[in-house]
Amino acid sequence: MTMVKSKVEAAIQTPGIFEQISGYDHEQVVFFNDKASGLKSIVAIHNTILGPALGGTRFWNYNNEAEAIHDVLRLSRGMTFKAAVAGLNLGGGKAIIIGNSRTDKSEAMMRRYGKFIDSLSGKYITAEDVGTTTRDMEWIKLETEHVTGIPENMGGSGDPSPFTAYGTFLGIKASVKEMCGNDDLSGKKVAVQGIGHVGETLIKHLVEAGAKVTVTDIHADRIQHMIKKFKVNGVEPDSIYDLDVDIYAPCALGATLNINNIERLKCNIVAGAANNQLADELVHGNLLIEKGILYAPDFVINAGGLINVSDELDGYNRERVMSQTERIYDRLLEIFSIAKASNSTTQHAAMQIANKRLKDMAELNARL
Ligand code: NAD
Repeated sequence: MTMVKSKVEAAIQTPGIFEQISGYDHEQVVFFNDKASGLKSIVAIHNTILGPALGGTRFWNYNNEAEAIHDVLRLSRGMTFKAAVAGLNLGGGKAIIIGNSRTDKSEAMMRRYGKFIDSLSGKYITAEDVGTTTRDMEWIKLETEHVTGIPENMGGSGDPSPFTAYGTFLGIKASVKEMCGNDDLSGKKVAVQGIGHVGETLIKHLVEAGAKVTVTDIHADRIQHMIKKFKVNGVEPDSIYDLDVDIYAPCALGATLNINNIERLKCNIVAGAANNQLADELVHGNLLIEKGILYAPDFVINAGGLINVSDELDGYNRERVMSQTERIYDRLLEIFSIAKASNSTTQHAAMQIANKRLKDMAELNARL
């Protein structure tokens, strides 16, 4: 009886789905379920003022459904700001598939998912994210037009992560310029967390620029591979926060900038590709300032991949993508300058730019 009561109490205390959706101001959240293939997916469409919502599909083994919902809501909101600051005519959306991408994925599941995406009639366009690849986009493409990041041999732009990594590399340089007066990375000590699609290419750029790189991943084979390939140092996942480095580059999952980890950081710059790095935008953004750490807002520094996949929608042009990605450097310097002048966090300064564009474009649309 006590157990039944506590379950009911817990249900009452958990915020309802509508409370969560309106908390972040989402337009639409769709749940897809397919028993035959085992597909359980959520698509969150945050804002479509600027255009259709584009954002990748994350395939992840969440501990529970509440965690999955929280993740997709935060990720999709971040996509709205990312597209707005990058100057793209796209809205913010994101999707998650619950499961282990290494063992649960199948052609049937991904094609069923493609059919579900198709039922949204283009309001949401998908692409790769953690746990999904260009191969998955190929399967999805068999069922819907509303997918980007498809392989080059199918007329697409391929894997977006090299562009994310390049933009992140330029963002690290801009952050170093802000802190040191020049953007020379030679001899700078950088800790890279997460050696996936983005992490590996970022490590390559950093090593080529003369940085002293230390890496980690939850998969030990990835660390060993990087040590062999790039002669970098490797550490256990939890040791990454304690390193005596100049720059911490989170390239795994979000929320690593929380009260416990920030206390441990010895760097003076946080600049990496992971989405939603700040566990709490205000609290942890301010905590970084108190520690004298410059933070490059994630949705600004990691926009290269979005710029790349979105270009596929207009007839892909690699040069245009490169020049748009290179703008990340100046955009960050502008954000650092606004934050300094207004005594606010860099995250807040970047969100102000995004919100202004959203407001201006909503007014423009209303007049058409
Ligand atoms: P990925 O799945 O290829 O790589 C992620 C890596 O992080 C994996 O090797 C995984 O083992 C590792 N990892 C997970 N948890 C970890 C932990 N606690 N400690 C250390 N390592 C851990 O993903 P990716 O495409 O490289 O993306 C990395 C991050 O960048 C994600 O947050 C993603 O949302 C973001 N991002 C990616 C792109 C892109 O173009 N791929 C674009 C924008 C943002």
